[in-house]
Amino acid sequence: MTCPLTIIKLEAAPGPDNCARSARIRFPFAVVRHMNSNTFIRLQSGDALIAVDVQIDFLPGGQLAVPEGNAVVPAFNRYLAAFGARALPVFATRDWHPPNHCSFKAQGGIWPPHCVAATRGAEFAPGLALPAAAVVVSKAATAEADSYSGFGGTDLAARLRAAGAKRLFIGGLATDYCVLNTVKDALAEGFEVLLLTDAMRAVDVNPGDGARAQAEMQQLGARPIHCEDLAP
Ligand SMILES: [Zn+2]
Repeated sequence: MTCPLTIIKLEAAPGPDNCARSARIRFPFAVVRHMNSNTFIRLQSGDALIAVDVQIDFLPGGQLAVPEGNAVVPAFNRYLAAFGARALPVFATRDWHPPNHCSFKAQGGIWPPHCVAATRGAEFAPGLALPAAAVVVSKAATAEADSYSGFGGTDLAARLRAAGAKRLFIGGLATDYCVLNTVKDALAEGFEVLLLTDAMRAVDVNPGDGARAQAEMQQLGARPIHCEDLAP
């Protein structure tokens, strides 16, 4: 008789880490997960990767820096390698604001100027290994409209469907704003969503915002994963 629980694996709680840290177990946050071959996620046709706003102004030193925002770059590169190896589609959203954008404080908004179109701060993070074929989706590109979601006022949904996407792997900056709203819209559009917990970081204007955002996304149906959950 074969026991289906062939491997018992301990996994640390999601955190600012990379694949290697899973070996370090910290109680009481560790959970026991019964693993068999079905628990790995096998990338397949219909999968698409979405990098939300991994832009210079959201990295440490940028105009609207997200704490540890640069940590998403190596994490994303691991997912990008896995998607690239299987020739699966990659999408990258970006804030692409005019200098007088409504979200900026000078116009009555709540944010400092950031990601002004065609400036260095709006460029994708150096070192982010986006493939040449990545589909770039610019958002909030007019003075009057803001959108935290990559779906807001863009053709992202149509382009995903044109690419045959059904299951979306979403991470980026920041967990409690643009990732949250992009994930909510993706679920509302009928896509399955896997949340890249190792490839996103929060602004945490109010302490705990990021954790609350992740809980909300999971409650709505997004499934949190780490890159180590991908089948080799
Ligand atoms: Zn913005």
